[in-house]
Amino acid sequence: MSIEIVTGDITRLQVDAIVNAANATLLGGGGVDGAIHRAAGPALLAACRELPEVRPGVRCPAGDARITPGYRLHARYVIHTVGPVWRGGSHGEPDLLASCHHRSMRLAIAHGLQSIAFPAISCGVYGYPPELAAPLALRSLREAQDTDAPLQISVCCFSEAMARIWRSALSAQD
Ligand code: ADP
Repeated sequence: MSIEIVTGDITRLQVDAIVNAANATLLGGGGVDGAIHRAAGPALLAACRELPEVRPGVRCPAGDARITPGYRLHARYVIHTVGPVWRGGSHGEPDLLASCHHRSMRLAIAHGLQSIAFPAISCGVYGYPPELAAPLALRSLREAQDTDAPLQISVCCFSEAMARIWRSALSAQD
């Protein structure tokens, strides 16, 4: 199975698509979202604005995903997904987090992509415990993998401490 855990800045990766842990407005924010918008340049914000609202202020509901070009990034595409805010775990957070990974993978496969990098969705400001997020995310990625033409999947952790959590979840599933 082609999933690898890397440490670093996702905006630097040479992959077909990087996934953005966005918020529902898709109009930028802090964390990895801010880094991606800074690296991609203002055309990314303009492209996000063009995406239709599904209800006022919401271009992408939690658990869903949208795709735009990557503009100044090495990556050709950005797949924007909105993770759940952690509220203790009994408010649908696991299903929403799984759905972020499934739908992002589905968009990548539909666009014929060969490589994709995910950040630790919801594990920053949204507060999802990474020890719970990592095994669930990895399982979801495996389920969504294209068996005929498997995507090269990276999970890009911003710190070595986060990478350790993901590597141990990955080896527990091998
Ligand atoms: P969320 O709101 O979904 O929790 P955050 O951006 O706050 O999203 O955090 C998600 C994860 O992305 C965190 O582990 C954070 O440390 C990490 N992160 C922040 N900047 C980057 C970056 N440039 N590249 C990769 N990961 C990043």
